[in-house]
This record gives sequence, C-alpha cells and structure tokens, in this order.
Amino acid sequence: MQRRTFLLASAAAAVTTTLDPMNLVDAAQMDMPLLAPWTGPHGGGPAFQKVKVAGFKPALLEGMKRNRAEIARIAANKMPPSFANTIAALEDAGRPFGRVLSLYNIYTSTMNDKEMQAVETEMSPTLAAFSDEIVQNAALFARIKAVYDNRKTSGLTPEQQRLVWVTYRNFAQQGAALSVTGKTRLAAINKQLAGLYTTFSQNELGDEEDHWLTLEQSDLEGLPDWLRAAATAAANEKKQKDKWLIANTRSAMEPFLTYSTRRDLREKGFRMWTSRGDNGDKHDNNATITQILQLRVEKANLLGYPTFAHWITDYQMAKTPDAAMGLLLKVWAPAVARVHEEVADMQKIADAEGAGIKIAPWDYRFYAEKVRKAKYDLDESEIKPYLQLEKIREGMFWAAGQLYGLEFVQVHDLPVIRPDIRVFDVRRGGKHMGLWYFDPYARAGKQSGAWMNEYRAQERFRAATTPVVSNNTNFVPGAPGEPILISWDDASTMFHEFGHALHGLNSNVTYPTLSGTNVVRDFVEFPSQLNEHWLPTKEVLSRFALHNKTGKPMPDALVAKIKSAHTFNQGFLTVEYLACAIMDLKAHLAGAAKIDPRAFETVTLQEIGMPDEIVMRHRMPQFGHVFSGEGYACGYYDYIWADTLVADAAEAFEEAPGGYYDKALARKLYDDITSRGNTVDAGEAYRKFRGRDATVDALMRDRGFPAPAKTSSGKAG
Ligand SMILES: [Zn+2]
Repeated sequence: MQRRTFLLASAAAAVTTTLDPMNLVDAAQMDMPLLAPWTGPHGGGPAFQKVKVAGFKPALLEGMKRNRAEIARIAANKMPPSFANTIAALEDAGRPFGRVLSLYNIYTSTMNDKEMQAVETEMSPTLAAFSDEIVQNAALFARIKAVYDNRKTSGLTPEQQRLVWVTYRNFAQQGAALSVTGKTRLAAINKQLAGLYTTFSQNELGDEEDHWLTLEQSDLEGLPDWLRAAATAAANEKKQKDKWLIANTRSAMEPFLTYSTRRDLREKGFRMWTSRGDNGDKHDNNATITQILQLRVEKANLLGYPTFAHWITDYQMAKTPDAAMGLLLKVWAPAVARVHEEVADMQKIADAEGAGIKIAPWDYRFYAEKVRKAKYDLDESEIKPYLQLEKIREGMFWAAGQLYGLEFVQVHDLPVIRPDIRVFDVRRGGKHMGLWYFDPYARAGKQSGAWMNEYRAQERFRAATTPVVSNNTNFVPGAPGEPILISWDDASTMFHEFGHALHGLNSNVTYPTLSGTNVVRDFVEFPSQLNEHWLPTKEVLSRFALHNKTGKPMPDALVAKIKSAHTFNQGFLTVEYLACAIMDLKAHLAGAAKIDPRAFETVTLQEIGMPDEIVMRHRMPQFGHVFSGEGYACGYYDYIWADTLVADAAEAFEEAPGGYYDKALARKLYDDITSRGNTVDAGEAYRKFRGRDATVDALMRDRGFPAPAKTSSGKAG
C-alpha cells in the first residue's frame, strides 16, 4: 500500500534544499517553523523537533495563503502563457505549503491522537476546498491549456511535454474545463458525495462495533491460545466477566472461522460478519450506495464520460473499463475451476471424518486449513524462528545493493518523532542519494497495517533534491535484546513496502510532479509487488533467514515446502477478490439505472457463476474501498492489473542468465521503470523493459492455474 496526498499540482511537491529560492521568504517567517525548509545533514529531513500539534492549523492556513498568492500571480501574468511562466512556475509554487502538508500527513497517519484528530476533522474540508479552488481557477486553466495546445511546437523536451500533458489532464479530470454552471454543479456533487462517503464508513464501523459474538467456556473448542487471549481481552474491554468475545471485524473473525470446530458458531459469526451494513437498521448502507452510484454517474456525465468507470479508467494504464474487465474475466473461469477442486479436497476430508455436511461458506477457511496441513505439511510455527525482523531488513538492504548498488547507513543526527524510529542515509558509490525512515512499531494513534510514505520527492528542477521516504509497520516491540520474529506474510510485506521506497529513492527526473511513486494508480503497485520476489531467493534466505537461537540458515527442505505451498488456496483467494473487482466495475458501468445493491449483487453473482461456497471478500454494503471515498472506486482491479505485470517481469528475471540477480536486467529495471517516475507512459515503460506487453499467462502460472507453458528457453519458475 502506498499513502497518497490527495492534492493537485502545485501542492504535490514537499520539496526544498538549502538552495531553494524560497528560503529567503521562509527565513523571514521564523514564527512559522512548519513552513520552513528542511535543513540539516544528509540533505536535510523533516523538522520533527519543531512540530507542535497546535501549530498545524495556523501553518496550513498560512501555507495556503502563500500558495494562493503564488497561484494568483501565475494566473494574472500579463505575458503570454509559456512553459516557464505557467507550468514551471506551478511546479515551484506551494513549497512551504507542501512541507507543512507532509508533516501533517505523517501526524495524521502515525500520531493521530485526540488532539490531532480534532485538527484533522477541522482541516480536511478546508484542504479539499483549497484543491477545488485551484482546479476551478479559470484564468489559471486557460494558461495551462494554451501551453498544452502548443506543447508539440514550442521546443519542449520530452519530459517537459509530459509534464504539460500530466498537468493539463490533472486539471481537466477534476473539471477545470467545465462551464461555470458545470463547475457549480460538480462542486455540489463533490460535497454531497463527501458526506455520503463519511456516512458509509461510519455505518460500516458502527456495525463492526455494535455487534459481536459472545462465547462461553464450552464454545472455545479448536481456538488456539493466542486467539483465546485476544477474545478474553476483547471481553474485558466490554466488561463481560468470564466470557470470550469475537469482534465483528476481519482480523478477529477470519481466525475464528479458521480454527473454531463449532460449525453452528462459525455459521452465526459468518452471517453476522458478512451482513455488516446490510441489516435494515440505522447502519444500513444500501440506500447510501444507491445515492453514491447515481451522483457518480452524473459527475462522469458532466465531465463528458458515459459512466464513472469510463472516467476513472481513462486516466489509468487500463484506459478503458473493457480492458480492466477483460483481464478480470480471463482469470475468472480458471479461478472458479480451481475453487471446485479445492472444495472437492475439503469435502473429501469432511466425509472421511464423518462430518455429514456439505461444505458451506462458513466451512471454507476451517477445512482449507486441514487441507494445507495434509497436503503441504507446513506449519507457520516452523517458519517463524528463521524470520527475525532486523535480519529481514538487512536482507532487503542487501538485495537493493545487488540490484541498484544502494547502501544504507544508519545516522543519528536527524530529528525523529520518537526514539524508536530510525533514519538511514542511502548512498550509491559513497554519494548521498536520499533518506529512508523506518517506523516499525505499533502504538496508539498509528494507522494499522503497513505502508510507504514519500515525505519529499526527488527532483532537480531548481536544485538537486534527494528523496526522503519512510516505511511504516505495526510490529509489537520485543523484550529488550530479544529479536522480533515475524511471519512469512509479514516478511513479504516488508519487501513490498521497501519496493515502494526504492521506487521513490531510485527516481531520477527533473520535475517533482513526475517524480518517484507519483505514477498512475494501476501501476504504482508494480515495483512494490515485484520486490516481494527477492525474499524467497536462496541468496537472501541463506544469508538472512537465520534461526534466532542457532543462527543456522533456513533448511532447504523448509524453503521447498514454502515454495510448493505458494499456490495453495489460490482459487479461494482469487475468486473472493475477483468477484469484488467485477462487482465494482459492473455497478459503475450500469449508468443512470437506479441500483438496489442487494438485488444487483445477487443477479451479478449468478451471471458470473459465483461458487456457492464463497462470498465476495467485501460485499457491497461493506466495500469501503469503493464507497467510503474515491481512492479505489473502479480501482479494485488495480491489484491484479499490477500483479499481471509483476508475474511477467518476474519470469524475465527467472529466464535471465543471472536469475534474480542478473546485473543487466536489474539495470534495465532501473533505467526503464524505477528511475522514470511518471516521465513516460506506464505501458510504454513496461514495453521498453520487457520488449513486449505483459500477457496474463505468467500470472496464471504464478497462481497455479492452467496456462500455456513458457515458450522461452529459460529455467522454469
Ligand atoms: Zn503497495
């Protein structure tokens, strides 16, 4: 996952160096430390020592005020519009605002206590309105359009032409080209949608908090100790003595469904969990969904598109909903076929046990676990002792050294929010290339999960500016001196987020808007998902997957078991995901039809042949990706879109003479992909790297679905 700042153009870059021409202005503003340039050794880092939560509001307001003045100057320029006085001037505008915004984003995602939440609640509508204000500035857009219209004949470099194109498209996408009436209507729609998104997520949260499964001592059969302990803690929180409580959330319910031997309770829990937002009460989301879909189609029509799906995909690598849907449907049939095989395996076990049941959705996880043990003899507790958090981090560093020639040296002379956050100076051949912040531990006020954040983008527009990026995870700190042991999935996630970090650190472009991870949404997960492939390499495991007691590397037999279990349960995982991605697109392709989500879901699942034993990973009334904002609306397909490229690119490494450590191919990956940011079209960048478009075959092979054998002569993956 990658956190994105949702602001346009001028605010996109939180960038400066000590050579930044804005410094003179900033130096005069000593009362606004959050706007000041980041100074200090190693290219300078965020000024955490100056942050006080009470300082955010005045600094944001002052930052917007200065940015507004800059925009007004650009828009009112009497000289004819040119790249320099319009597009480049926009790139340079809003730097102080960008700096405070970067700090604000770090605090809302990692230090979000009550005081910070109050600031966020107050400031987020103001920030959103500011973004609209810039987009809807007619004089500014007229100048951008003039430069855009002449971009091919005004002697611009390819990167400058790309910047003009991207800037124009960013504005146009948000309605800059609309008439005054159109803009007014669009703003009203956006405002109404924003309210509905909040309603949707609060309803979902409401059903997660107001319902739970209460268990007695006799209901605990099959639950492992750690799950019982968590259920006790949850019961204590609700002041329920001598009870065990399973919360109505994914992280609580999935393990319960996996381990509980009580089929009646699994059914009860499953029905409650999959009905979130769909109970016909005050938290019911169905009417909200209908309204959101109607407003979205109106918005798309205003912007000149037949449906919301056409509007969104036009700005992505997929370009059309048909292209996205085509991929989903190609994978659908083989994934469903695999589900039928998985269910047959499970039914066999149930029959042998004399369970006398037919596998139902609340049985899937429970029996899948039994199949996993029987087929692969793989137990998580066998793997964990070899995965020490800090060794895995060293393994990521080592692999990045092999691929990109990067070195990571911990430094202690830059401010951090908390003492347990570490800073690494990133170097290539001894030369400073950027900074990597590592914030590993869970704490109150920190968003759950793992993500990468780009504090400052690389650029060399005004002065060479090195990137500053962070990786954030939620591990529980161990006892002093004890290594933290993590799961295989967590180790994979570490490599994933580090892949995003490397995308930012390898950036080698001129303009901040086109820098680093600032690429289209269905391409951004490509470098990160690809980087996961270096974890299972023998080179990394033999050096860094070392037993925490004996120091011995993971045995080959265990590595082999992990690799052979790679395709386990892929039918289930792929189908529960694909059903959502298909539903997302179909609901947004339905045009002006007034959709009843319940009926729509039933009919659509029937049409595509959803297996009876599986439900969608997120049913519509709880599909927050799509209905609690626009971040993944018509974009749930992004994951498999990027994974198609990843599987295909991974095969390129497998076929290369040096395998995953082939120097020439690593250089190509840097030249064509990770250093390029958004200076080239994502599809073109991929074609340059691979010599052709990706096909879906590699993805099918990776997931263990039927696919043509590889035609090239390299060793098989
Ligand atoms: Zn990611």
